Amino acid sequence: MILYPNLYCKDVTQITIEILRQNNIKGLILDVDNTLIDYNKNMSEKVKPWVDNLKKQGIKFCIVSNTNKHEKVKVVSQKLDIPYFYFAKKPSKKGFFKAKEKMNLSEKNIAAVGDQIMTDIIGANRCKMFSILVEPISEKDIFITKVKRPIEKCIINRYLSKMHREKE
Ligand SMILES: [Mg+2]
Repeated sequence: MILYPNLYCKDVTQITIEILRQNNIKGLILDVDNTLIDYNKNMSEKVKPWVDNLKKQGIKFCIVSNTNKHEKVKVVSQKLDIPYFYFAKKPSKKGFFKAKEKMNLSEKNIAAVGDQIMTDIIGANRCKMFSILVEPISEKDIFITKVKRPIEKCIINRYLSKMHREKE
């Protein structure tokens, strides 16, 4: 199902090396807005140690953001010391493939992480990458995202009840 993520986490720091190894993931593509930073550009202090720890275990990183705000993405990328592509127009495959080339990995070994089904998850699924949905950091969104949230909530609820049924 193109609308469903392969995994649903509360936030990025819940993505452990064990989860990545179990799924053969060697590289992570990260979204920025509401995945790494909130509306006011604040980043949780847990994020940097999470990235550093996974890097030590050999995991590669690349940022792919839809925002056209270059400076914002650059600051995040410098803070975490990972390469970036911005104005990616996800769910277009282009940004995902650029990141794949940058990390020099097969799509089978890449997971893309983001807070939006319509952009991050559909894009990752189209590229045959492992898709990880995280809860948005803050409730506050730019207008266009706000419009999409109720639809996303509906899909997430269906996804969670499907997962629940499969567990029983
Ligand atoms: Mg986002």
